[in-house]
Amino acid sequence: MRLNLFSAIFVGNRFDMQKDINLRLNPKDASEVDTIKRVFASETGIALKDINAVRIIKRSVDARQRNIFVNLTVRGYINEPEPVQMFEATGYPNVSGGFKAIVVGLGPAGLFAALRLIELGICPIVVERGKNVRDRKLDTARISKNHVVDPDSNYCFGEGGAGAFSDGKLYTRSKKRGNVDKILNTFCQYGASTDILIDAHPHIGTDKLPGIIERMRLQIEASGGEVHFQTRMEELIIESGKVRGIKTHRGDTIEGPVILATGHSARDVYRMLKRQGVKIEAKGLAVGVRVEHPAELIDCIQYHNEAGRGEYLPAAEYSFTVQAEGRGVYSFCMCPGGTVVPSASGAEQVVVNGMSASGRGSHWSNSGIVVEVHPEDFPEYTQYEELCLLRFQEDLEKLAWQAGGATQVAPAQRMYDFVKGKQSGSLPRSSYAPGVVSSPMHEWLPPFVSNRLQKAFKEMGKRQKGFLTNEALLLGVESRTSSPVRIIRDRETMQHIELKGLFPCGEGAGYAGGIVSAAMDGERSADALSEYLKTNRLL
Ligand SMILES: Cc1cc2nc3c(=O)[nH]c(=O)nc-3n(C[C@H](O)[C@H](O)[C@H](O)COP(=O)(O)OP(=O)(O)OC[C@H]3O[C@@H](n4cnc5c(N)ncnc54)[C@H](O)[C@@H]3O)c2cc1C
Repeated sequence: MRLNLFSAIFVGNRFDMQKDINLRLNPKDASEVDTIKRVFASETGIALKDINAVRIIKRSVDARQRNIFVNLTVRGYINEPEPVQMFEATGYPNVSGGFKAIVVGLGPAGLFAALRLIELGICPIVVERGKNVRDRKLDTARISKNHVVDPDSNYCFGEGGAGAFSDGKLYTRSKKRGNVDKILNTFCQYGASTDILIDAHPHIGTDKLPGIIERMRLQIEASGGEVHFQTRMEELIIESGKVRGIKTHRGDTIEGPVILATGHSARDVYRMLKRQGVKIEAKGLAVGVRVEHPAELIDCIQYHNEAGRGEYLPAAEYSFTVQAEGRGVYSFCMCPGGTVVPSASGAEQVVVNGMSASGRGSHWSNSGIVVEVHPEDFPEYTQYEELCLLRFQEDLEKLAWQAGGATQVAPAQRMYDFVKGKQSGSLPRSSYAPGVVSSPMHEWLPPFVSNRLQKAFKEMGKRQKGFLTNEALLLGVESRTSSPVRIIRDRETMQHIELKGLFPCGEGAGYAGGIVSAAMDGERSADALSEYLKTNRLL
C-alpha cells in the first residue's frame, strides 16, 4: 500500500489537509463509502472523527486473477470540508456580435468545436443535415420497425452525430490528459455522472447521451451561436485557393471559414471533395463482424467465476488483439450488457454496431471483431483511386444487405459454425431489433477478411476458454470503424494542406477515432481557426 501526502495546511492547533492513498479492496467493500472511510482511517492512522469525507478519485477493476479487486485512489478531507463542486465548469460568453465561423456537422467534433469557438469569442454557425436528437429517435426506431433508413436521419446522422446513440464509452488512448479531462468535465457540466472523471474506462450510456448533447446545443444557442438542422452542406465555395464558405441543399450561401466535421459516414461529402478537386487520400480501416455472447458467459469467463459477476461488479469487458496472416485482428467498441444496432446511413446497406445503456443490464455483451485492411489489399478497387476503400466498404455493406434479404435484417452465423465453415441450422436469440437470418458468412465475406477472422477466433478461444462457442452469434457487417479517406491537413495549422480557411476535423477527416478523440480534435480545430483569424487580422 503506497501512501501519498497530498497537501496540508496548519490551521490553529490542527492540520487541515487532503491526503490521497491507494487502496485495493474487494468489490463489496469498494462500493461502500463507510467501509472506505474506515479503511482509510486505519491505513493512515488518522482518527475517524478527523476525516470529514473521503472521495474516490480513480477507480479500476483488476480481474486478472481469480480474486477480483477494485483499485481505488481515495482522497481524504481531514479537518476540512469536502468541496461541493465535483467538476470544472467552463464559462461561455455571448458571441452574437462576434466574427462568424461555419461548423459543418454536429457530432462530437462539431459540438466541441462550436463550444470552443464560443470560448474564444467567435460565433459558430452550425449546419447539420439531420434532425434534433428528439426527432431523430423516431427515425432510428423506424429503421428497426419498418426497415427504412432516412439518409439524413439515422444512427450516424443528426444532432450528436454517431455519438448520440453510441455506447458512450469515453476511453481514449490519448496521452494528453489535460485535453481529455476538459472534454470529460464538459460532459459533466451538461449532466453526465461525475463517475466518468474517476473510472479507468468511463462510460455514459446511450440512455443519457441524447439529453447531454441537447443541453450542449442549447448552450451554443444561448451564447448566440446558430444551429441549423436539416441543412446539408452541398458544396464548398472555393476562390483563389481559399474556402470562403458553403452552399447548402436549400440553395443558401453561408460565408466564413469552415470547420468540416462531417464524420466518416458522409460518403457524399468525400465524393463532393473529389469532384471539387480538394486533396484527399485513401486510408486503411478495419472491417469484420459484430460478435454477440450471452453477457453471463462473458462475466463467467472474465471474472473466472461460474456464478458470474455477482452483486458488485459491472458487466465484464474484454479486449483482444491477435495477429492473423500478417494483419491485426482486434476487438472494437466492446459493449458489455449492450445491444447490437442497425447503423446503416443509406439504402442497400446493412451495417451493425453496438451500444449499451448506463446500467449495462442487457442479456448480451457484444463487440466488433475486425481485420485491418489497407488500400493495397484490394487491387480490384484501385480504379477508384482515393475512394477505393470507400467503394470496398459500400460493396461489403451491400453484400450484407443482400444476404439479409434486402431489409435491415442482419446476416448471422454461430461463431463455431463460422470457424468450421458451416451455415448455422438455427440461431440463438439476439438483441438486434430488426432481426437476424442464418447466412454462410464465411462464404461471402472477402476471403482476406473471413480467413483471418476464422484464425483469430481460434486464437481467442485458446486465450479465453469458452469464448469460441456456438452460443455466440456473428452479425454482419461491422464496416464503420474509421474513415476510409483522409482529408489531408497541415500538421501545424490544422488547415487543409492546399486550401486556406478549411479545417477538416474529427473522425471524417481521418485524424480522430471515437467520441473523446473527435471532441478533442474539434477543440483543436477551433483553436487553429482562431489563430488563422488573428494572423489574417480578422479577430
Ligand atoms: C452505434 C455506435 C456506437 C458507438 N460507440 C462509441 C463509444 O462507445 N465510444 C466512442 O468513443 N465512440 C463510439 N462510436 C463512434 C463515435 O460515435 C464516433 O467516433 C464519433 O461520433 C465521431 O465524431 P465526429 O464528430 O467526428 O463525426 P460524427 O459523429 O459522424 O458526426 C458527423 C456529423 O456530421 C453531419 N453531416 C454529415 N454530412 C453533412 C453535410 N453534408 N452537411 C451537414 N451535416 C453533415 C452528420 O449528420 C453528423 O451529425 C460509436 C458509433 C456508433 C454508430
